Amino acid sequence: EVTVVRLGHRPGRDERMTTHVGLTARALGADRVVLPDNAGKSRDTIADITERFGGPFEVECSESQKALIRNWEGTVVHLTMYGERVQDVEGEVREAWSGEPLLVVVGAEKVSFDVYEAADWNVGVTNQPHSEVAGLAVFLDRLFEGRELDREWEDADQRVIPKATGKRVEPVDEE
Ligand code: SAM
Repeated sequence: EVTVVRLGHRPGRDERMTTHVGLTARALGADRVVLPDNAGKSRDTIADITERFGGPFEVECSESQKALIRNWEGTVVHLTMYGERVQDVEGEVREAWSGEPLLVVVGAEKVSFDVYEAADWNVGVTNQPHSEVAGLAVFLDRLFEGRELDREWEDADQRVIPKATGKRVEPVDEE
């Protein structure tokens, strides 16, 4: 099981970023995203997409992300440009995750040092500054070794039919 936790959210400014953390977590194979309490709008958007395009995927807001990290019974990976190189640690992380739930932490603004200490691994997707959405996408793809791309979706109302040109979306028949 993989849960993504989004630390910090500046209403207005971070709206799209927080939504995209959730949508990326869902599309690339995580099971759940936990957002800060003040990110209700992002939560609603992610829940709406899951309703239409399928799951299973859970989205929730939580009062204390820090407590979630501290009390996590499993492995904690914190994505940060200062961390160890993803290509060096992905094997060990995958091994740990095969036995227990994995929590993936991404930040918004500056992340406080206690998060670095609480993590089993601080992992950098390159040691260059970029985005939590990009870092999460590459990390999940490495974790799942590309298998998330073939995922089947349950309880979708609609699905996209891949096309070389144009857009085709079909309703999904209820069985
Ligand atoms: N500069 C801030 C700090 O020192 O904590 C981080 C701000 S950054 C815009 C927001 C988030 O993107 C970070 O908390 C981290 O989760 C993610 N991120 C940015 N660059 C990354 C990288 N190279 N590898 C992994 N995650 C990264």
